[in-house]
Amino acid sequence: MTDLKLGDVTVTRIEEMHGPIMPAGAFFPELPAEAWRANTDLLVPDHYGADDDLVRTAMQTWLLRSEGRVILVDTGVGNDKHRPAVEPWDRLHTGYLDRLAEAGVRPEDVDLVVNTHLHLDHIGWNTRLVGGEWVPTFPNATYLMPAVDFRHWNPADNPGVAGGVNEFAFEDSVAPVHAAGQVRLWEGSHTIDANLTLEAAPGHTPGSSVVKLVSGGDRALFAGDLLHTPLQLEHPEYDSCFCEDPASARRSRAALLGWAADSTALVLPAHFSGHSAMEVRRRGGAFALTRWAPFPRY
Ligand SMILES: [Zn+2]
Repeated sequence: MTDLKLGDVTVTRIEEMHGPIMPAGAFFPELPAEAWRANTDLLVPDHYGADDDLVRTAMQTWLLRSEGRVILVDTGVGNDKHRPAVEPWDRLHTGYLDRLAEAGVRPEDVDLVVNTHLHLDHIGWNTRLVGGEWVPTFPNATYLMPAVDFRHWNPADNPGVAGGVNEFAFEDSVAPVHAAGQVRLWEGSHTIDANLTLEAAPGHTPGSSVVKLVSGGDRALFAGDLLHTPLQLEHPEYDSCFCEDPASARRSRAALLGWAADSTALVLPAHFSGHSAMEVRRRGGAFALTRWAPFPRY
């Protein structure tokens, strides 16, 4: 099953790619190595390789159909992007748009794009290369972006980000959409429709956010980069090396996983491979997996 009905919203997973990404100790510098080995039942093979010590992730978009609109939550790494800081993502050629088409969506059908934050792996398909120019991939869409990240990641406003992990990403994946008049900036919280609300979840980046779904009796949390591995359920106190403000990231993670546990919300992070989404419960001062979502394993 690739579609999930949550209240009045249909959720479809669109894969860009998945696989090993980086050593556990580099990705999560403070997380003790023995915690990975003690949780192989939970983590292997979809989230961690016991043989190679590499964390497994996915790049994927959550495609939502809500109130007659087609909504994409996060847009992956993208094709043809020059990514000097992340060599495996440099000038990719994936079949992402083919997989979107298999789900019945042409680029012109997309009404709304939600970038949970403006890291390079969440904005890539915002644009594509046409005749040597970056143009919005989704010509009829409004792109919702957190205003805080829009300011933070613009090298013209914040020279400190130049040459870092996001090198060229603002210029090729944000600025062209803004120039086309398709960006809507929001701050704090933003009501998308009667089923979906954007909420600030700062820490991973200053403007990081999540989408909450509340529809009929169903709840879901499109969690962006609130967490990167199921091991952060048992250890929500540990951050990835990409979390800019660890103290805020931990606060956001604990609060939102708490909401998900207390409301039996499905949690759909941006980068979980395998079944990609899960229900969680409180356990002690942390969290535990209740069940995986019925998406087939990658
Ligand atoms: Zn990410």
